[in-house]
Amino acid sequence: MMWRQQIERRLRQQRERRLWRQRLPLSLLPDQRVSDGRQTLCDFAGNDYLGLARDPRLAEAQAEGARRYGAGSGASHLVSGHLEAHHILEERLAALTGRPRALLFSTGYMANLGTLQMLCTDGMQVYHDRLNHASLLDGTHVGEARSRRFHHRDYDDLERLLARSRSDVPRLVVSDGVFSMDGDIADIASLATTCTRFDACLMIDDAHGIGVIGENGSGCVGPRFGPDQVPVLVGTLGKALGSAGAFVAGEGDLIEALIQFARPYIYTTAQPPGVACATLRALDILDQEPERRHRLYENIRYWRSGADQLGLPLISSLSPIQPVLLRDSQRVMHWGRSLRESGFLVGAIREPTVPKGQARLRVTLSAAHTQAQIDALLDALARLAVTAPFEEAPAT
Ligand code: PMP
Repeated sequence: MMWRQQIERRLRQQRERRLWRQRLPLSLLPDQRVSDGRQTLCDFAGNDYLGLARDPRLAEAQAEGARRYGAGSGASHLVSGHLEAHHILEERLAALTGRPRALLFSTGYMANLGTLQMLCTDGMQVYHDRLNHASLLDGTHVGEARSRRFHHRDYDDLERLLARSRSDVPRLVVSDGVFSMDGDIADIASLATTCTRFDACLMIDDAHGIGVIGENGSGCVGPRFGPDQVPVLVGTLGKALGSAGAFVAGEGDLIEALIQFARPYIYTTAQPPGVACATLRALDILDQEPERRHRLYENIRYWRSGADQLGLPLISSLSPIQPVLLRDSQRVMHWGRSLRESGFLVGAIREPTVPKGQARLRVTLSAAHTQAQIDALLDALARLAVTAPFEEAPAT
């Protein structure tokens, strides 16, 4: 029974280190609120930046898709699971991002895993921004590539690493577009210039940028940077687009190589076709209702100005991800619990998701929040700042 003891030991350590993670079964209420069965909470923790996840038009498109194509796809894409709805969605995603082709994956985690596993051959040397998402780091491990990390958004540091590296092996630079825990945005132009100079491939994971950043919500990369500058573009569909899944967009050979070699693409059931239909509806709404993005940006401005007045330690983020950098894990847990008691759901993020000493409340804003809800959250934070003050955060 050694394996049981091994599990017990790891669970004990997790508790002792106070790193225990918990899930909450929630039910949905109107107006960005949820219930945990005991109380009603206003949701400032999710990634539904445009309020589309709860839009009845997406639910209707999903139901109609299930009636038309079946509740499940029934097989992997390469067997018989690649349905018309998936194909049309791939064409729409290619058009949104200004690329010749796009390939649908069931989740963003799998898109990153599959893409890196496919790319990391022939001695590939990979360079990661230090704050890249876990799925990007995991993909490099699956691909068994050698990898180095450069300081967060420090492209001089990246250049130093590239200049010192061997030029006779293929090189790949990987960065989040919008960083998932800090909310700041990669400088795509600088990354593209550096990669061109060193003949390195550039991969951007724009999970949090798609639907939110750029003209028409085409993301941090979008058609502004072509496949010659950003050859590998990943986007997810479960955040601003309110459904689920992900895609990789690029030139024909990249997409064909993924179809031929990316194991997380080949050996898994294609996403339910209704989900693809819901995403197609979300893309229509993205086109037809730019006011959602405007409302989101108005909410971001409103929050930042209120939080600044309270002196909350913010990170300079222009995206819907607005961390309050309390730094200390115990303080973050205490503030998270207190906010919950006051009726707010906010992510309390600690190591290992962020580095030690960088614990934060991850406040996320949506177009669906009202200014009254943001005011109420700010009031609750103001009360906490008086009873459990935070340390002064260094300027970022
Ligand atoms: N990339 C980034 C930057 C993310 O934040 C996430 C999700 N948190 C993913 C990829 C994974 O996407 P998905 O949830 O669709 O698996």
